[in-house]
Amino acid sequence: MPRLVPLDKIRNIGIMAHIDAGKTTTTERILYYTGVSYKMGEVDEGTAVMDWMEQEQERGITITSAATTCLWKEHRINIIDTPGHVDFTIEVERSLRVLDGALAVFCAVGGVEPQSETVWRQAEKYRIPRLALFNKMDRVGADYKRGLKMMEDRLGANPLLLQFPLGSEDKFSGLVDLVAMKALIWDTDILGATFRELDIPPELKLEAQRQREGLLTKLADVDDSLLETYLNEGDVGEREVRRAIRRATLELKVTPVFLGAAFRNKGIQPLLDGILDYLPSPEDIPPVSGWHPKTSEELHRPAADNQPFCALTFKIVTDPFVGQLAFLRVYSGQLKTGDFVFCPTKNKKERIGRLLKMHANKREDIKEVFAGDIAAVVGLKVASTGDTLCEQGHPIVLESITYPVPVISIAIEPKSKADQDKLFDALNKIATEDPSFQIRSDEEVGQTIISGMGELHLEIIVERLLREFNVHANVGKPQVAYKEALAAKASSEGKYVRQSGGRGQYGHVKLEVEPLPPGGGFEFVNAIRGGVIPREFISAVGTGVREALNAGVLAGYPIIDLKVTLVDGSYHEVDSSELAFKIAGSLALREAARKGSPVIMEPIMEVEVVVPKDFLGDVLGDLSARRGKIIATGTQASAQVISAQVPLAEMFGYATDLRSASQGRATHTMQFSHYNRVPATVSEQVLLRSGC
Ligand code: GDP
Repeated sequence: MPRLVPLDKIRNIGIMAHIDAGKTTTTERILYYTGVSYKMGEVDEGTAVMDWMEQEQERGITITSAATTCLWKEHRINIIDTPGHVDFTIEVERSLRVLDGALAVFCAVGGVEPQSETVWRQAEKYRIPRLALFNKMDRVGADYKRGLKMMEDRLGANPLLLQFPLGSEDKFSGLVDLVAMKALIWDTDILGATFRELDIPPELKLEAQRQREGLLTKLADVDDSLLETYLNEGDVGEREVRRAIRRATLELKVTPVFLGAAFRNKGIQPLLDGILDYLPSPEDIPPVSGWHPKTSEELHRPAADNQPFCALTFKIVTDPFVGQLAFLRVYSGQLKTGDFVFCPTKNKKERIGRLLKMHANKREDIKEVFAGDIAAVVGLKVASTGDTLCEQGHPIVLESITYPVPVISIAIEPKSKADQDKLFDALNKIATEDPSFQIRSDEEVGQTIISGMGELHLEIIVERLLREFNVHANVGKPQVAYKEALAAKASSEGKYVRQSGGRGQYGHVKLEVEPLPPGGGFEFVNAIRGGVIPREFISAVGTGVREALNAGVLAGYPIIDLKVTLVDGSYHEVDSSELAFKIAGSLALREAARKGSPVIMEPIMEVEVVVPKDFLGDVLGDLSARRGKIIATGTQASAQVISAQVPLAEMFGYATDLRSASQGRATHTMQFSHYNRVPATVSEQVLLRSGC
């Protein structure tokens, strides 16, 4: 069957916003006006279409990136919902990875909030063309001009205003479209309200002309062909203006700005037109790149149906009705139900049983997906989040998604015996969906430890256990996820020999270990010469070493940033086994760790605080008291911006402290930066707390 919507008429977009800016309301209105969602749910009543996880409705924030599809003027718009809370930046990264364009929703009253900056910077990193909407134009204090200035100052953006409002605050009734030079009037603000397109009222003609000139001048600055027409003819036709805006947006030279009041159903239709006119189709973005799983040769796949199939699994969710759903972004080729695909990272084939298109919380069975599509597959067995699926004859591994390190842990235990098995099952399911969540069991104290990116992240997981899996669990206090590292090189020997009649055990290895720079991870090098250890036992040594790395010798925290070289050893013709070498590897690593001056490492967070001038001194003092290192201070509009690096251990409860130190006027964002050695005095306390 041929595709229904041509490739150049597909838009894969994300909607990014600071909490409360109106992302949910805007998304809902988009779904309504595109005809998918006939019954409106109001966020205030907690029935939003996109917020389909029960607890999201309670919290009023959108956590999962559900992909939703809709049609507008013969185009397909796939919306990948991106969350606004900073604890979930991973979700944002994950969705940005598969988007072609984005809509940034700002509140016309609050303007550009600090959290929007984080997401904006991530979008810059992935070179995602964006539109902006100043929402809540009906509210008292709405000031889009201030908003435009904030976009320049805070985000370094080049906003291109395409409209100006008719009436302000509760009298906001429409827009002047500076591209078509028309007045758009909404007579009511009820759901489904449509607008009339009228001539610009005479008293506003001059203002509209002035603003249009501003728009054309700005555009001519970044687009030579428009500049030429403008200079020669003094004006530019509507079609040519649209084309120039599209070019400049795709090249990230401007951000077209729209105005509206989603809650009052005003401004949505022109915004939808803008998504079609100015945001890229999959054809407009560079071919996806990856590498050959065997040869590591770099490969590029253009977005076209006649190319070999490749797709990225960007999200896995457990759906109460159909089981596990894997969301795919198809980059090239096509895929039908019943086809087999290859997962190169797992070196396994998967059968595509069922394909679904998601309309918010309604699912539609489809038979086929094409290049540029976003769809969900039911029942994949091996692929997890971030894996590539491709044609076996044309293997490619697409770059996976980078995940932040989990920096907060809590101990968790089942409330009753009945919950015990269910707990592990549920935790494992959640871990497949969410690679930034980890489970570890601390055998010494018989505890299960879960780690995530922030307190809220873990809180939500515990809530999901109860709601989705009906598991009751007790949790401890959040703890910093410390690590251990070695400060010096060391050599060691591990021997595991048992002679007890019959067949014994014999494994013997010599290791050299050396610290790697921060973020260096783990390397295992086999430098055995002359077969002193037979090949078949080498990987068992590696497994033993890896297992021993899970619990360091100081306080049982995992050891990071280490290179381990297997240099020597010996074996026994009869008694040697994989098990014996695995144990010898573990023993040798533990000895090396003891000799290599072990140290405790702590997560350091990048913290940005925006604070009114009057409170700057207090906030700086407080950050220093928290062992913070101030990296820079700068001015942003009327406020000061502090960038600092602060140990996570000192940041518990910071939001509350900052609020009270600044009469509620300062805000902050925080994300993981790197692991650093804990100072000696603090190290003693950490060891004491860990019971060592
Ligand atoms: P989100 O957190 O960004 O998803 O924001 P929501 O869509 O949940 O909106 C937050 C609050 O602002 C809700 O109470 C909405 O009803 C309200 N809201 C959203 N859009 C508008 C608007 O255009 N005008 C007004 N006055 N309120 C709005």
